Amino acid sequence: MRRVALLGATGSIGRQAIEVVQAHPELELCAAASASTPLDDVDAPLKQVGGDLTELLERARPDVVLNAVVGFAGVHATLWTLERGIDLALANKESLVAAGPLALAARERGGGRILPVDSEHSALLQCLEGRSPEQVETLVLTGSGGPFRGRARSELVDVGPEQALAHPTWRMGPKITVDSATLANKGLELIEAHFLFGVPYERIEVVIQPTSIVHGLVRFRDGAALAHLGYPDMRVPISYALTYPARAATPLPSLDLASLSLEFAAPDLDTFRMLPLAREAGELGGSAPCVYNAANEVAVAAFLEGRLPFLGIAEVVEDALAAAELAPVRDLDDLVEADRAARALAEGALTAA
Ligand code: NDP
Ligand code: MG
Repeated sequence: MRRVALLGATGSIGRQAIEVVQAHPELELCAAASASTPLDDVDAPLKQVGGDLTELLERARPDVVLNAVVGFAGVHATLWTLERGIDLALANKESLVAAGPLALAARERGGGRILPVDSEHSALLQCLEGRSPEQVETLVLTGSGGPFRGRARSELVDVGPEQALAHPTWRMGPKITVDSATLANKGLELIEAHFLFGVPYERIEVVIQPTSIVHGLVRFRDGAALAHLGYPDMRVPISYALTYPARAATPLPSLDLASLSLEFAAPDLDTFRMLPLAREAGELGGSAPCVYNAANEVAVAAFLEGRLPFLGIAEVVEDALAAAELAPVRDLDDLVEADRAARALAEGALTAA
């Protein structure tokens, strides 16, 4: 029996994770948490709405923690899990982006594993498994391009939350759906891949693959490239992480290859500024990825509330990165302070905008 603690049980990933757990007799939900949505219909011995997630984890004694909280709020649970050598099934990419070096150090001390739930990283993990780092030339992260793929900047001046939330291939929570529309999601995933796989940024490429069938691809030094294909359905990477390495069955149909379209295109970096900004933040290192993430969270919330235009999201993040006092992140206190200061800068940029 594997005891699963599910953080963010009421969200898009959380609901699908419950389905996966229910389908596998060897998985058992030992705890479930949300921020404010009641957990009445969730069947778990320990439940917590709001409050300190690490207190719940202390009591739950999980074998694996599925962190499906959205945003920086997931950072303490990520570090708690890694420090104790407990397997971390990680959907909450923001925590790894903001706390990368701290998370890797905690994993080193704890001796546990990070099992990515993000579909691209799950795909890359599978393509990389059993290969040595020197064989790998580049990692390729694929993205659908979101609802605004192919649009020029001038066509994005007036787009609002309703259009940004209409994602072409994935059904997800509102924050990541807006991140997919700005390509901040791919930016966060670029930094996530850097920390997960220890590959320098110049060897991680982002490519648009509009149907979201190819989830990731690795190019090797001998000219071969391995890709991971599948229908866009998060139950697959959730199941892969929770049942690792068993690759338990899921109810998905097998791929109908003759019906697929597999085109690729380069991302439009002038229109979707959040992607190059992520690369800059990643390469700067230190607190820069934390600042990128924090400013993005503030800007996305403001956009969803109608307080910021779509194109303002990247402006707020760019301004916060330029104004922040970037510094190394030595411990959790440094990180929390960097996050707080970046949020204040972003809020200031909103008022100025
Ligand atoms: P949702 O907005 O659908 O759900 C977020 C969940 O987190 C909710 O259960 C929410 O509870 C909970 N939550 C938020 N803050 C806290 C907190 N402080 N303490 C406890 N619970 C909290 O998000 P998604 O499921 O879409 O995304 C979750 C994470 O997974 C994100 O990091 C996202 O980037 C990542 N991800 C998601 C994918 C997807 O397909 N959805 C794909 C790949 C990655 P409440 O209901 O009470 O607000
Ligand atoms: Mg993803």
